[in-house]
Amino acid sequence: MTSEQQIFSYGKNIIPYRLFYSSRKTLEISVFPDGSVTVKAPVNADLAAIDMKLRKRARWIVGQRAYFEQFNPRTTPRLFLSGETHLYLGKRFQLKIVPGSQNRVRLINGRFFVESPDTSQRHIRTLMDTWYKEKARHQFHLRFDACRNATISADHPKPRLQIKRLKKRWGSLSPGGILTLNLELIKAPKECIDYVITHELCHLKYPHHDPDFYRLLEERIPDWEKIKHKLEVLMS
Ligand SMILES: [Zn+2]
Repeated sequence: MTSEQQIFSYGKNIIPYRLFYSSRKTLEISVFPDGSVTVKAPVNADLAAIDMKLRKRARWIVGQRAYFEQFNPRTTPRLFLSGETHLYLGKRFQLKIVPGSQNRVRLINGRFFVESPDTSQRHIRTLMDTWYKEKARHQFHLRFDACRNATISADHPKPRLQIKRLKKRWGSLSPGGILTLNLELIKAPKECIDYVITHELCHLKYPHHDPDFYRLLEERIPDWEKIKHKLEVLMS
C-alpha cells in the first residue's frame, strides 16, 4: 500500500494525515491515541472528494484528538508536586499540597488537597496511594455488585473480588472464581471499570474468547469496543 502525507484544515485546526490508497470501496478515517490520523481511500478517489469527506467528519476527528490529548499527561511520571494533575474515575484533578498537622487527602472543588506535616514527594505518594486504595475498595465493590446482578444469574456462585496492582492487565479471573482488578483502574471512567468487570464475569460462563463469549459481552455492553479503546489510551 502506498501512502502520502496530506493536510486538511478545519477552523483554526490544521490536521496532518497519512493517506493510503487501497482496493476498497469506501473511505476509512482513523484517529490514533498519539493524535495521528490515517485515511484509507479507494485507489481511484480524488483528493477533492477526500477533502470534502474529511470536512464532514472534522468535528469527530478534532473531538477524538482532544479526547486522546487529555490523557497524555498521565504518560509522564507523576512527581507528586503541587500543580500536576491526577486522575480519578476518568477525571483529572489538580494537586494542591499544603503543610498541616495531620495527614489527609480530600477532593474539594475539583482539586486534590493533600495535607501533611511531611510534604516530601515520597510521603505524598504514599498518602495518595492509600487514598486510591480506599476509593478502589469502595467503588469496585459497588460496580462489581451492579455488574454481577446484570450479567450472571443469582444461583451462580459469587466470585470473590480482589484488588491488586497488576502490571499488564486490567483484570483477570482465576479458575477458582477470584476476580482480580487492577488498582489503577480507579483512575479510569466508571464505564471502563464496568467493562473490565463485565468482561471477567462473562468468563464465568465462557472461559475462552469464543463467539459465545463475545455475544454475551455485547449483549451486556453493546459499545464495549469503544470503551476498551478508551482504556487502552489510558494505560498507554
Ligand atoms: Zn478475557
